[in-house]
Amino acid sequence: MKTLESLRPKEILLARARELERILRSRDLTIETFADPLDEIQQAAELELAIETADRTSAKLAEIRLALDRLADGTYGICADCDEDIAPNRLRAVPWASRCIRCQEAFEAQSEMPDVEESDTHTSRKGLQDAA
Ligand SMILES: [Zn+2]
Repeated sequence: MKTLESLRPKEILLARARELERILRSRDLTIETFADPLDEIQQAAELELAIETADRTSAKLAEIRLALDRLADGTYGICADCDEDIAPNRLRAVPWASRCIRCQEAFEAQSEMPDVEESDTHTSRKGLQDAA
């Protein structure tokens, strides 16, 4: 597979994995106590965000490790759902992709979460109308 060789996925994946491991290690999730309750609220929000980011980073790292496994066993670049080759353009953009673009879109449509932000907006708008 000449196209795949030119993508050098192993180098890219290993470099990315090292970068994410460094981010996870350097993340500081300590909790301080503040006299001002506003500072505590601020810190709780920051901590929540930091944990969320760490979760996402761990998830991405897991995806990259799986892609490295697939490279090792020769299934890299093959869609996990339909067994078709994943387009080289897609692998260039997302080297840890485990699905072709069609299967990925189907997968995301299936696992889509309800839009919390939008329902919040509706609630607050309704509140404003009730008040007026
Ligand atoms: Zn597919």
